[in-house]
Amino acid sequence: MNGICFICDKEKTVRKNRKIGESICSACYRREVKSKEMCTLCQFEKPAYGRDDEGGAICRACYQREVKPKELCTLCQFLKRVAARNEQDGAICFACYRRDRRAKLKAEALQASRSN
Ligand SMILES: [Zn+2]
Ligand SMILES: [Zn+2]
Ligand SMILES: [Zn+2]
Repeated sequence: MNGICFICDKEKTVRKNRKIGESICSACYRREVKSKEMCTLCQFEKPAYGRDDEGGAICRACYQREVKPKELCTLCQFLKRVAARNEQDGAICFACYRRDRRAKLKAEALQASRSN
């Protein structure tokens, strides 16, 4: 079927691509679509950089943002992004880090008020 390719805007033999819902030519399909998958996190068509537990594609940006920095927090035992490390190099998540800091500040404030 002849039509305008969604990607290169040229009149070519195009095929409706179910993945992106538009008609594209075979050259653009090879270049743009075939090597790419829908990222399970941002839902954009991108080359897969990593995979989640179910084998879903994760793009590089999402992988860096969501997957790579996660470690088991030594305090809450959840897989989270690392905010700080304790003396044993154990990961501490942002929530625990904030809670910890608040507790410390509170203790310090308490001490300061007592010494007055
Ligand atoms: Zn094209
Ligand atoms: Zn993504
Ligand atoms: Zn935590």
